[in-house]
Amino acid sequence: MRVIRAETAGFCLGVSLALQRLEREHALSGKLGGRLITLGPVIHNPLLMAHYTQSGVICDDAPRDLRPGDRVLIRAHGIPREVEAALRESGATIADATCPKVKKARSAIGRAHAAGSMLLLFGEPDHPEVRGLLSYAGPSAQVFADPEELRSLPLDPQADYFLAAQTTQSRAQFSRAGQEAARRLGREIPALDTICDATGARQREVSELCAEVASLVVVGGFNSGNTKRLAETAAAAGVFAVHVESPADFRPEDLRRIRASGSPVGLSAGASTPVEQIDAVQTFLEAAV
Ligand code: SF4
Repeated sequence: MRVIRAETAGFCLGVSLALQRLEREHALSGKLGGRLITLGPVIHNPLLMAHYTQSGVICDDAPRDLRPGDRVLIRAHGIPREVEAALRESGATIADATCPKVKKARSAIGRAHAAGSMLLLFGEPDHPEVRGLLSYAGPSAQVFADPEELRSLPLDPQADYFLAAQTTQSRAQFSRAGQEAARRLGREIPALDTICDATGARQREVSELCAEVASLVVVGGFNSGNTKRLAETAAAAGVFAVHVESPADFRPEDLRRIRASGSPVGLSAGASTPVEQIDAVQTFLEAAV
């Protein structure tokens, strides 16, 4: 079976920078003899993160027993403002791998909140980036995971609101959220442009690919929001979408359905998926389907 691979599949700039930082900090802590602790997974790729934890890097969401000589690395998704402040007060040596685009989104949200508006954030409530973004907008901020949820959020028609989105959300869905907010409040409200181009480019290419294929495989961490969104984009286009981390995740019925379609299979990957992981799935599909 022919595989059509998306050109944008794989690492974005923010992930590349974060991994370079992780590599540098790992080498440095090895040389200096201290521990390297990451505040949660640096990127959402369990296979790649397992490689680092097996070589001594500690992954901990809330380290309590920091020792002199420890280095703490902040993940690409960023961390809540108060967690970062407490960390800096602890005296730990901190390295920051927060993606520059996440930092830009946080600053824009912080400025709009300081000007007196209340945030309506389109994002996954439990995602670490979302927790970080919310921390820049005070207690009045509200989060919704789907434009439909905006219908039931408590909104005050007299208050000032602004919209923003988790960097990896879909532009089309965010635009629907804007329409729903305008319907609820009887007026349009400002929307910050916080969605990352890297995410948009991957989603656009998947949409284009869906015109050529009946099934599409997306490779990436099951905990990766942008990877999940690519599979959702394909499914919304009426294409059979399969999300895997490695060839071992294919179910026999997935392969049967891909084979039965008789068309080439599309292949894309999330922004935190290394090229070797994509190559492995491509080789498997070419041989197995
Ligand atoms: S998808 Fe965009 S925001 Fe997320 S890490 Fe990559 S460059 Fe940064």
